[in-house]
Amino acid sequence: MIGAHPDDCDQDGGGTAILFSKMGYAVKFVSVTNGDAGHQASKGAELAKRRFAEAQEAGKRFGVTYDVLDNHDGQLMPSLEVRFQVIKKIREWNADIVISPRPNDYHPDHRYTGVLVQDAAYMVAVPDIVPETPALKKNPVFLYFQDGFQRPNPFRPDISVDITNVFAQKIHSLDAHESQMYEWLPWIGHYAGQVPKNKNEREKWLAVTRDIAITPAVRTALEKWYGKDKASQVQHAEAFEICEYGEQPNDEDIKRLFPMLGK
Ligand SMILES: [Zn+2]
Repeated sequence: MIGAHPDDCDQDGGGTAILFSKMGYAVKFVSVTNGDAGHQASKGAELAKRRFAEAQEAGKRFGVTYDVLDNHDGQLMPSLEVRFQVIKKIREWNADIVISPRPNDYHPDHRYTGVLVQDAAYMVAVPDIVPETPALKKNPVFLYFQDGFQRPNPFRPDISVDITNVFAQKIHSLDAHESQMYEWLPWIGHYAGQVPKNKNEREKWLAVTRDIAITPAVRTALEKWYGKDKASQVQHAEAFEICEYGEQPNDEDIKRLFPMLGK
């Protein structure tokens, strides 16, 4: 999973990552920037260092490895240099599935992460590009994280994963990002006054504020993959859209790649 900042994959795909990890699959989170602009009081190398440590702790709690690329936060461009970094990461991991944001988003770093991963979606198999890291023999399946943006087209939940049973662990993992969950996001979102002072209350509060509502489209996708009865009981879900540029999976491929579906 590839996000722009060292808490993006966590929020958008963390539950699914836990499920994969519990089944013995290897999951990596990559943050394309070091997060060094995401705080109201701290910045630069000091902030990047703090966020790297938070990401490592979150990775442990999710059961994933966590890489952070040393590009500045808030300044990401879809340059050739960063495209090559992304190609290298996907190849080194020999990824079967790559998940990133869509290139429509309020945050330019998210948008350009979407563009960078799309730009890698064919090039990972081209040997002459980044020749020092051998090209993949097989193009991975590329997916997008869920978002709420409507233009130019709304997110389409091709795959919906029931994360109800691991939601508490997802929240506990997000709790590792203290600088974001309890400081920066509440500050920039003008709800800093709501953050519980008591540490024990914080995760309960996170579970409410960080929950992603199940949209009607996601519920319909849950019915497809889990059946109507099971789908009606799902309380927390994460959904993904198939990108048109990588390997194109059919329903059988999706069941093989996401063995948790239907269970
Ligand atoms: Zn972000």
